[in-house]
Amino acid sequence: MSHSRISDRHMLPVPWRYVNSWHCSTCGLCCRGYNVVLNFAEWMKVVKNFGVGYTSPGISKFYLQHKNDGSCAFLHSYQGKGFCHLQHMKPRACKLWPFKILPRPKYGRANEAVYNFAGKPFFIYVDPACRGLTWGRPTKSFLDTTLTEFLSLALGFREKQVYSTSRLVYYPQYLRSERDQVY
Ligand code: SF4
Ligand code: SF4
Repeated sequence: MSHSRISDRHMLPVPWRYVNSWHCSTCGLCCRGYNVVLNFAEWMKVVKNFGVGYTSPGISKFYLQHKNDGSCAFLHSYQGKGFCHLQHMKPRACKLWPFKILPRPKYGRANEAVYNFAGKPFFIYVDPACRGLTWGRPTKSFLDTTLTEFLSLALGFREKQVYSTSRLVYYPQYLRSERDQVY
């Protein structure tokens, strides 16, 4: 898993067909108590920019390091909101959360999870723990903008996030000025 819970509390992922819309509220929940796996290029970037101490080795993978409270080393909390200090080089696992875009129906309910994109079938689920989900029939806007962007990110067609991240603030000014003092 690329963005997995540290604890074994687990809710089964839900097919996209039950999502009316999704908007990240910057609650920061997904940045606390999760392991974020890094691919080699992502690991190199973090090490080069912040030092090896901001990553953590696993048996066969590298992860982002946690703070003592279990939150991601790059999570900055401000006025009850959680902001990502790694926004400019956010790992793909974080960009895709809470969506899981898979070539096979790993979590079942294939008929509800299937979604055709770029001429191929994919199986899309969401982690129901995310607080940005609204349940119901998917809106056209959700399908045309948000879900399409998540698919494009997953397939490597794009890197920049617009609809797949918080619309509150892309990278807040106050974090830029405190950039070297956050931790
Ligand atoms: S993706 Fe979901 S859980 Fe994570 S900060 Fe946004 S609303 Fe909260
Ligand atoms: S890198 Fe950013 S989005 Fe990912 S877990 Fe850390 S703070 Fe959250």
